[in-house]
Amino acid sequence: MFALMHSTRLESLHLSVDPRTGLKAVIAIHNNRLGPALGGCRYLPYPDDASAVGDAARLAQGMSYKAALAGLPQGGGTAVIIRPAHVESRAALFEAFGRCVEQLDGRYITAIDSGTSVADMDCIAQETRYVTSTSAAGDPAPHAAMGVFTGIRSTAMARLGSDNLEGLRVAIQGLGNVGYALAEQLHAAGAELLVSDIDPGKVQLAMEQLGAHPIANDALLSTPCDILAPCGLGAVLNSRSVAQLRCSAVAGSANNQLTNLQVADQLERRGILYAPDYVINSGGLIYVSLKHHNEELPVITAHLSQISLRLTEIFGHAQAEKRSPARIADELAERVLYR
Ligand code: NAD
Repeated sequence: MFALMHSTRLESLHLSVDPRTGLKAVIAIHNNRLGPALGGCRYLPYPDDASAVGDAARLAQGMSYKAALAGLPQGGGTAVIIRPAHVESRAALFEAFGRCVEQLDGRYITAIDSGTSVADMDCIAQETRYVTSTSAAGDPAPHAAMGVFTGIRSTAMARLGSDNLEGLRVAIQGLGNVGYALAEQLHAAGAELLVSDIDPGKVQLAMEQLGAHPIANDALLSTPCDILAPCGLGAVLNSRSVAQLRCSAVAGSANNQLTNLQVADQLERRGILYAPDYVINSGGLIYVSLKHHNEELPVITAHLSQISLRLTEIFGHAQAEKRSPARIADELAERVLYR
């Protein structure tokens, strides 16, 4: 565990259990230098405790980098709640988690992520004020999707020479809160959608509402397309999957898409432009952070529009230095975090 903390440069790791509600939670705080750590709370099943801790640590690191490049006064943190096979009261479990967040006295502020909802955040808010994305504050997913949409435009511009999405084939893996909202925006812009989700109901809806073409889950990554948008869980890009990609660029919402930085170099060698995940998906964090600071929507929208500029700047550096945009983004973030 300490080796993991060392390799991800994690500041602290907090483990909590509450046998009454079945809560088993990990809160990873990566860096508080720029402000209190802010990041999502996952509620997913994990094969073992180490996987949950590893997920929390890597996500927290990504949140620090995301906040640093988005110019937000936040550090990076993430919570993972291991979803039990059976839960008596989901509300009680999230209230118990709220008490864990409260104990950290503001060093970590929680938010929605995979598997959690606005209703869960409302339960947490019964116990602590260090929570965002409640029903009063609003769901960040549409804002994350908006950021990814504008980021896809910048990616298309950099790689294909035009940001017109009309007729562009975009393959979306995962039609959840962010993926589906992104699909709606791409459809409105005239893109052709190729979609997969482990939930067949979501695929069916996208076929009916957006004219999307269904693709088998195990075939999505190797489907010929212009842009691949991973919007499910992380670690989808490894040496094997990258060898099979048939796209010009990868630009999606999922956190931690790369298994390691060598995979980013492999993408670069294959001529596939990679939009660094924590840059293109920063719309959700921008929304929750600024909302938590009581900013109005026009201020938030103006901040969101910076995502495409930042990406374009990173692509420019990457092209000039013939290096992966992932490496450029990491270096820029580390300059802010560790200068
Ligand atoms: P979600 O749980 O609502 O959606 C994820 C979807 O992906 C689900 O429908 C799931 O069935 C599907 N999925 C998972 N694995 C899959 C696979 N192998 N193949 C096909 N489908 C698969 O989560 P979300 O809130 O939409 O977030 C999606 C990703 O974006 C996550 O990685 C999350 O960390 C990241 N993200 C979310 C936000 C946000 O505001 N919600 C912001 C930034 C980044």
